[in-house]
This record gives sequence, structure tokens and C-alpha cells, in this order.
Amino acid sequence: MNTLFKNQTIQIDGSVGEGGGQILRTALALSMITGKAFELKNIRAGRKKPGLMRQHLVCVNASEQISHAETQGAELHSQNLYFSPQNIQAGHYDFHIGSAGSTTLVLQTILPALMIQENPSQISIHGGTHNPMAPTVDFIEHCFASTLAEIGIEIGINTLRAGFFPIGAGQININIQPWLCRKHYSKLKRGKLLELQAFAATLNIPPDIAQRELDILNNKLELTHQKQLYLQGISQGNSAFVIAKFEHHTQVFSALGEKGKPAENVAKNLAKEVRIYLDSDAAADEYLTDQLLLPLALGNGGEFTAQIISKHTRTQAEIIQMFMDCEITFQTDKQNLTHVSVKI
Ligand code: AMP
Repeated sequence: MNTLFKNQTIQIDGSVGEGGGQILRTALALSMITGKAFELKNIRAGRKKPGLMRQHLVCVNASEQISHAETQGAELHSQNLYFSPQNIQAGHYDFHIGSAGSTTLVLQTILPALMIQENPSQISIHGGTHNPMAPTVDFIEHCFASTLAEIGIEIGINTLRAGFFPIGAGQININIQPWLCRKHYSKLKRGKLLELQAFAATLNIPPDIAQRELDILNNKLELTHQKQLYLQGISQGNSAFVIAKFEHHTQVFSALGEKGKPAENVAKNLAKEVRIYLDSDAAADEYLTDQLLLPLALGNGGEFTAQIISKHTRTQAEIIQMFMDCEITFQTDKQNLTHVSVKI
């Protein structure tokens, strides 16, 4: 075990900071990596329906399975969990959320432990691929995974079926290669904008919805490319995403259609989000920022500029520093740009 990892059993109060499922997922990931047991109290105390929901329980069960963990309180609605991992086993796994719960959040829970193994893993996760308040599979594929590739982490993602609320029934297959070369990450400048691409997708709903979204996105942003996508699956839904490719960084923004919300509004909100980011000088957006801290802490550290430091990001930094001897700092300069540094 890496000597940087602290030795004590970790006690976590799930009601501190952001108070959501991320505390649980990060604790599971770090517990498996460090081999340290943890006790988490007040799980998701900050949410309307506290405790373990179906998708959180799948994260616990998936972690239990890959690390042969001993657990207490791994039940629906449980607000306390004890988790003690044993040895982690790379290999073939199939996880079913059994609802439209987010497949990508399950992936982010088990990925850190599996990517540091000597052997590759092939994972299938069944559930939602396009969920509100979670990374879409498009964000994971075109932004998160491509950023991980820059620090030497190789994962391949294949979306077999898309899954939207409430039916879900999506499936992603992920191939995780052993992390051989842990590269330092440095992304203080994103460089010139090279391409701005928009995609709009429909699943079992009229495809003109996607075309209307693309028309708005094209009108509001100076797109270099646009494409309509036709998804496979048994649920119904619509999503749009924009890929902003810079000289040194690629950022993705996604939006989901909602019943009763005109496609034009979905696209207008997405365009506004992209515009605010383009008007800043930051490399990482709000979401990539919180998701990057853990891989950087496990690798060779790094520094980057961030558009927003959310409560999620601050909580993520706190949990990581509970398990590991690393230093995560946020410093805002005179231009109001925040520099994030992860030192190991
Ligand atoms: P929690 O709310 O604690 O379950 O955590 C939600 C996670 O989903 C965080 O890691 C967020 O960065 C991520 N997330 C939420 N919305 C988006 C989005 N639109 N794009 C990418 N990631 C997102």
C-alpha cells in the first residue's frame, strides 16, 4: 500500500458540506484504494429523501463485489453504513441498477479501484445513461475519459442502449486498462477555441425535437459542426450536448429534454451555459472540476484553472484529504479565475 495513505479508520459525517451521494461514492472509492474501513453516518442528510436510494445501494453493492468487502447497513434508505474492503479483483462484472439510476455515477465509484489493478476489467452497467444531476454518458466519453487519458488512464466506453427516466434500461460497457504511467496534469490555459460542435439526440420521440434544438444552438453559438443523433433503447428521451475543443482542453456541456419543457428552452439554457464558460478563461467547468480531484490525487497531482468551485468540489477535496496525505488548494486570482492545485 502507498505510504501516503493514512492509517486510521475513517469516520465520516454525511451531513457535512454538500451532503449528497458524492460523499458516499468518494468514500467507497478511497476506502477500496487505501484498504481502510469507514463508517458513514447521516447518509445524504442534505437531500429531501435521505439515506441510500436504489442507485446508491448499487454503488455500495458494486464496491462490495469488486473488493469482497464486509458491510453493515447496506440497505435501502439506510442512513448509516460500515464498509471494510478486502482484496480488489479486476475482471468481468455486470451491475444492474434496476431503475433509471445513473450508470455513470456507479462507474465513477468503482473506476478508481479498478484502474489501479494489474489486470484490465470489463464492466457492464444497466440503468440510466442520461440523468439530471449526474454526468451524461456523452460527458463521460467526450470530456471525463478524454481528460483521464491525458494523465495515462485508458478507458473505453460503449453505449449499447441509452436510458432515460423513468424506464432507464440503458447499458454502458466499459473497458478499463491498468494505469501504467501516472502523468502530472497541468491545464492553466485552455488555449484558442478550435471547434464548437453541437449534437442533439432523441430516443423514441419525434426527431424534429433534436433539429429544433440544433437550430437554436446554431443561432446562439458560432458552431463549427452540428449533428442529429438517433439513440437506441426502450425508454423515451432527448438530450443535447456541446463539445468545445480548445488547443489544450476539451469541455462538454449537456442538457436533457423534459416533458412540458419546449425544446427551444432546453437549447437556449444550454447555449447560455456554454456562452458563460466561453466568456471565462477557465479550463475545467464546474462539474469536471469536482470529478478531476480524485484521479489527480491518485496519480501524480496537477493544477488547472476552474470556472466555478462548487460545494461539491470543496466537499470532494475534504473527503479525499481525510483518506490521503495530499494537499488540495483553491486560489482565486485578480481576474477572478480560480487555480486548483492537487499536490501529493
Ligand atoms: P451528487 O449530487 O452528490 O449525487 O453528485 C453529482 C455528480 O454529478 C457530481 O460529481 C457532479 O459533478 C456531476 N454532475 C451533475 N450535473 C452534471 C452535468 N450537467 N454534467 C456533468 N456532470 C454533472
